Amino acid sequence: MLYLPGIGEAAISVSSDPDQRGTIAHTIRAVGNVTNALARLAVGEQVLVRGPFGTPWPIDRFAGRDVVIVAGGLGLASQRAAIRQLARRTDGGRTIVLHGARRPAGLLYAAEYDLWQGAGIDVRTVVDEGDASWTGRFGLVTHLLADVQLDSLATVILCCGPDAMMVGVAEAAIHRGVAAESIFLSLERNMACAVAHCGLCQFGPHFVCRDGPVLRYDRVASLMQVSQL
Ligand SMILES: Cc1cc2nc3c(=O)[nH]c(=O)nc-3n(C[C@H](O)[C@H](O)[C@H](O)COP(=O)(O)OP(=O)(O)OC[C@H]3O[C@@H](n4cnc5c(N)ncnc54)[C@H](O)[C@@H]3O)c2cc1C
Repeated sequence: MLYLPGIGEAAISVSSDPDQRGTIAHTIRAVGNVTNALARLAVGEQVLVRGPFGTPWPIDRFAGRDVVIVAGGLGLASQRAAIRQLARRTDGGRTIVLHGARRPAGLLYAAEYDLWQGAGIDVRTVVDEGDASWTGRFGLVTHLLADVQLDSLATVILCCGPDAMMVGVAEAAIHRGVAAESIFLSLERNMACAVAHCGLCQFGPHFVCRDGPVLRYDRVASLMQVSQL
């Protein structure tokens, strides 16, 4: 939780490499009170930090398995730390990053794709709408997933983005034999206390701030069908 006294707090992912000591990086889209104020800060000004809270991507549990990271837009911010860790994996499993954005400018960390690819990560991108310089693919991340060869028993999916996109990805993966228990979603819900007291982020029996944001799909699939939950 990033906090600016007198303005408020917002849940923001840590997007830096956990092994990079001394600094923490955040990737912030200015959409409201807190994020606009954060975007206006000058170098040297203070930001208060509470946390970290909630559940991480459980990559330590996937030794030897193929990890498919699926990100819609800013969702990749929550996965960059995991990608950096997976770039150092030596367990033989594949790592695939599928990233979609509305426009090419919305593709995050493009300057790092060569580095990720150099570490053996398969990086694929797609946009809804191109510009004059775009020579890549158009469409949705689900289209990228359809092109990936999946070993259904070995595959783990880590997905972050809008709810409809995550459900689409999860259902497509299940259709291809991936177990719901091997699919993890990071849910974005408004949260305030971050310690499961205020109830703002309650999602059925789960508090997204404490039990999430990363939750296994089999535990939330039915809740994801409830509108506005
Ligand atoms: C677990 C978690 C991790 C997150 N990580 C990040 C992150 O790394 N970087 C980041 O920028 N944000 C992240 N968010 C989203 C961020 O917490 C919210 O956008 C937050 O509401 C911003 O606070 P604010 O006071 O600036 O805007 P608010 O005052 O809360 O919102 C202002 C307006 O913007 C709209 N709005 C809120 N969020 C979005 C959005 N994502 N896109 C478009 N419109 C929106 C609201 O509906 C509202 O109308 C994360 C959220 C969660 C739950």
